This record gives sequence, structure tokens and C-alpha cells, in this order.
Amino acid sequence: MPTLSFWGAAGTVTGSKYLIETDRARVLIDCGLFQGGHNLRDRNWQEPPFNAASVDAVIITHAHIDHTGYLPRFVNHGFRGPVYCSAGTADLMKILLPDSARLQEEDADYRNRHKLTKHLPALPLYTEKDARETLKLLQVVPNTGAMVRIVKNVQAEFRIAGHILGSSQVLVHVNGDRDPHSVLFSGDLGKYDQPIIRDPVPPPAADYLVVESTYGDRLHDTEEPKVALERIIKAAAARGGAVLIPAFAVGRAQEIVYFIRELEEEKRIPILPVCVDSPMAALATQAYARRTEEQDDEYAAALKATPTPLRTHNMLVCSTREDSKRINSLEGARVIIAASGMMNGGRVLHHALRLLPDETATVVFVGYQAGGTLGRRVADGEKQVKVLGQWVAVKCGIEKIGGFSAHADWKEVVRWLGGLPAAPRRGFITHGEPDAAQAMAAHIRERFGWPIEVPQYGEKFEMD
Ligand SMILES: [Zn+2]
Repeated sequence: MPTLSFWGAAGTVTGSKYLIETDRARVLIDCGLFQGGHNLRDRNWQEPPFNAASVDAVIITHAHIDHTGYLPRFVNHGFRGPVYCSAGTADLMKILLPDSARLQEEDADYRNRHKLTKHLPALPLYTEKDARETLKLLQVVPNTGAMVRIVKNVQAEFRIAGHILGSSQVLVHVNGDRDPHSVLFSGDLGKYDQPIIRDPVPPPAADYLVVESTYGDRLHDTEEPKVALERIIKAAAARGGAVLIPAFAVGRAQEIVYFIRELEEEKRIPILPVCVDSPMAALATQAYARRTEEQDDEYAAALKATPTPLRTHNMLVCSTREDSKRINSLEGARVIIAASGMMNGGRVLHHALRLLPDETATVVFVGYQAGGTLGRRVADGEKQVKVLGQWVAVKCGIEKIGGFSAHADWKEVVRWLGGLPAAPRRGFITHGEPDAAQAMAAHIRERFGWPIEVPQYGEKFEMD
């Protein structure tokens, strides 16, 4: 009898790994890195809970590191099979996996230099070379619902999930015609009406469901992010000050640029210099522009009016450190978008050093700020913070825009599930903190009456 087991994103939002086993094959759905506290991150260092060499294939729902970042380690442990994903996901993995490896190497280097390790020398979880080896295993499949053969007796269909470029919901068919079962993995599900990319397509019928619950107990902010950006940029222009937006380079940075261009065209804000200070953002923007099959109608219409909807009217993209230094000399009203989104690394720190003490400047948080990060301290109103080893006074304005999210909230997940042609036999809630996962389960039971459970780490279920 085929089984489904949960080796990540169970009781937490990171480390997504779901294993399907039949009498003849083992297929892993997502291969994510655990992120967050020590207890979670330690799992990345433990032996994989199943023999990597015995897994026949991996299916990837989307490129985010909490869904792909364990792959190079898995390859290191002996996995050699194909990794199936959409074209957009492959594009972004080529940007994100080598970057993740560089961060692992820098982290090990830092531990060694500061003698913060019991293991001498501290080794990285994986290297850039491991990431490059992993990328050779990618097999691109259509994100259109076409049936794809994964291994003997396992097929899959990938459909747009509307979360980030290339994101897929995946229906896995197990054991073909003999005793067939199907499992639908929502992946991370996007918000409806998100700019640039398409909305999640309705789900196909499935025997079993695995549904994410990041926002299982929350609804999105009602202030439209575009309106908030308009208000903040107008005020900055009037004051002649800088606007610094710490933002993740893939997805979020493109959305912000897209909204600013629209606001400029609608003459709702003056045209200011907009600097995107991130080599990764520059690469990701190319991928977003190239993958026309993932773009929504609005983007397609914008593309008719302007060849570059992902550029504002006066935009500077910094790929090199020299470009980055050049924007330091700019004065007056301007917008700077730089990673990382939580100010825990990256070029945003150099801008923070100059702009946090500047009374005319505004820092705008557009994403979640985890505890312990510089972003969280600034967002919480601390008046003195340490940036790149220096204490600086925080005198700039602080703004938070809550409406940017790449995740469906619980009502949107319920809306998506409402498109299922038939009731599933059983559903599993994953990818949420415990309270969010339980809340999502309760919402689904209440609305549909399906049997729903919240699996624990390592729990295994038979498909009978
Ligand atoms: Zn994601």
C-alpha cells in the first residue's frame, strides 16, 4: 500500500519535505531547508531521515529556499535522480541555490574567524559547487496541468499556484491504473489579484490533499499596498528625503517596482530616482520578464503599453559594487530597494548606516520581521541599533505596509478549495505554525466537513 509521510513543514513553516513511497518507487515532494531557531536548523545537519540514494525523484513546487534549500545537501548525501519543476522555478533556483550556498559558506567562515564553533574548522552545510551539481539534475516540465511521468508508476501534473514566478500546485498520481491514488499538494498558495503573476488556478480532483496554512489564522491588511506606497512616496518627495525599502530580491522587489511604475503612469506620485541595489533582484527581474506563460492579463496589457513594466521611469539597477557605491552619492528624494528584507545582511545594511540617522529619510518594511533581526529592532522603535559593527541613532521615519504577501490568507485558501470538483477522502494541513495549522483545519472542517488532520513531524499515513 502506498504511503505518505511528513518530514518538514509539520508544526512549522520551513523545511517542506513530503515522501511518497510505493512498493516500487520513492518520490520526495519539495526538499526545503529548515530556517528559524537552533532546534529547527539543527535538523539540516542531521542525517536525512531516509536514505537519499534510495529516493528515485524529487518534485519541487517552487524555488523558495524553505522548499529547495536542502537539495544540495541531499545530493551530497547521494541523491542522483531527476528534480522536476516548472521553467520559472528552474530560473529562480539557478539564482537562489548558489546564493544560499554562498550564505552557508560565509556563515562557516564567520564562525571560524570568531571561534564560535565546537567543530574546528566549521564546515558549510553545502558549497556553491554542491549547488551547481544540484542544478544539473533539474528537469523542466510544463506548469499547465499536462501529465508528466516522474518514475515508473508515478505521474504528476503541475499547475500555477500564484505564489511566486513558476510556483506550482502538484497533483501526484500513484500506481497508475492498478489501485490508483492521487495526492494534491497545494505548495505555497498565492494571494488572488497579486500583481504580475497569475492567480492560483482551480484545484483538480484528488483522493488526498496536502494544504499550506501560513495564514491559517489571519486575514490580510485592508490598506492596499499600492495606496500605502503612494502616500509614503508623496510625503518623501515633499520632504526631499530618501525612502529605503528592505525587500527580498525575488518577487517582492519586482512587485514594488511594478506598483511604483503604475503610480508614476497614473500621475499619483512624482517621478523619483528608484535604485534597485541587488544583483539577485536584477537577475530575478529578467526571469519575471522572460516567463510570459506565468504573467497575468494585467501584466500582458501593461506590456503592450510599455516594453518594460518592471522598470520605473528613472531607475538604476545596481549589479556591481561600483554601481552600488554610485547611489551613495545621490541626494534628495529617492527610493532605494535593497536586500535583505529583514536587514540581517546584504547591501541594505550600507544604506541603513547612512539613512537610519537621517531625519528626512523613511524606512518602509514590506514583509515579516523575525525576532532578533535588525529589521525587527528598527520596526519596534529602538532608538540605538548596531549596524555593521557601529552604533547608530535611529532618527528616520518608520513605516510598515502589511498588505504585501505572497501567501493566500485563510479565506483565500477556502476559496481555492471551493473549486475542487469532488470532496477528497482525507486532507492534511502543513506549512503553518501550530496555531495557524489548527485554525486552518477548523476552517476547512466547518466549511466543507472533510476529514482533516494536522500531521506531526515524521508521521506516516497509508493510502488505502
Ligand atoms: Zn514560498
